Amino acid sequence: MKALLEALKGAKNVVILPHKSADGDALASSAALGKLLETYAIPYTIYTEEPPREDLLFLGDGFTVYEGEESAFDTAVAVDCGDIFRLGNRAPLFENARAKLVIDHHATNDGFGDIAVIDPSSAATAELVAALFEEAGISYEKAATILYTGLVTDTGGFRYSNTTAKTHRLAAKLLEAGAESAKVCHAVFEQNSIEKIRLEAAVMGAMTLTHDGRTALAAVSEDMLRSFGATDEDTSNLSGLLRTVRGVETGVLLREKDGEIKISMRTNQYIDAAAFCKTLGGGGHARAAGATVSGTLSEWQEKIIEKLGETYGRHR
Ligand code: 5GP
Ligand code: MN
Repeated sequence: MKALLEALKGAKNVVILPHKSADGDALASSAALGKLLETYAIPYTIYTEEPPREDLLFLGDGFTVYEGEESAFDTAVAVDCGDIFRLGNRAPLFENARAKLVIDHHATNDGFGDIAVIDPSSAATAELVAALFEEAGISYEKAATILYTGLVTDTGGFRYSNTTAKTHRLAAKLLEAGAESAKVCHAVFEQNSIEKIRLEAAVMGAMTLTHDGRTALAAVSEDMLRSFGATDEDTSNLSGLLRTVRGVETGVLLREKDGEIKISMRTNQYIDAAAFCKTLGGGGHARAAGATVSGTLSEWQEKIIEKLGETYGRHR
């Protein structure tokens, strides 16, 4: 933590890089790092791979979609990102920086970068950014709602098994510093586009239950997204919804994206989703992980069902 803070304080110009398809934690942690740099009057840019998700627009306009601009940064920070590939088109910005910093909580983090703070026991990368604020002696005031967003999104509203006493203690501190909890929760949990709801209904209607009801699997093609007028971000709830079917251990969503297949997996109790997805070149957490593979939806549907069968076999 100290080394990371010193590296940031010594920076001239910082590029902050959340993982692609940035979620609440990745964007919030990035924005909060920006606030920390502002207190030192250090210039920074937060480059994202794609425009921020609509439900996260309240995090402000501090995000710039990367369009291939030349690298002009001495320091880069990869945020909530387990490997360099998760930076997508922005990987060169990281590689060209003199100081390559990483702040992350993925157990599958492969150790890229020069100075890294990686703590899989943290529920969210936002917890680690908060620890940087503590280390620096900077008050949470300007970042309270932002950091709270990282906590609340990565813990599913403090419901997932990654939630700890530490998470709640930090949440309490952030509330004392003025975090607008109800506003954040309303935006991220209580609001959906009609297109998203209709897509969810169709996908849930078409789900397959396999392995004696232990797996709920569904696939979303690009055609399907188009026909519902839905966007890729509208699929973000689906693997979690699949997991809520009583008796199901593993919820898996397969979706077509830019000619590849994106796998999103959620588990309830005993299947290590990160380990499973790691064998496919992806990663994540024990109960939430993903991977990107090439092939077709039906091919991967079959492969995943087969691989999960083997995995359950080892849990008898
Ligand atoms: P989601 O299913 O919401 O896309 O991702 C769940 C978790 O798995 C997140 O923590 C995310 O960072 C991680 N994850 C998703 N896709 C990939 C991937 O392709 N590679 C790696 N390393 N992690 C992923
Ligand atoms: Mn995270």
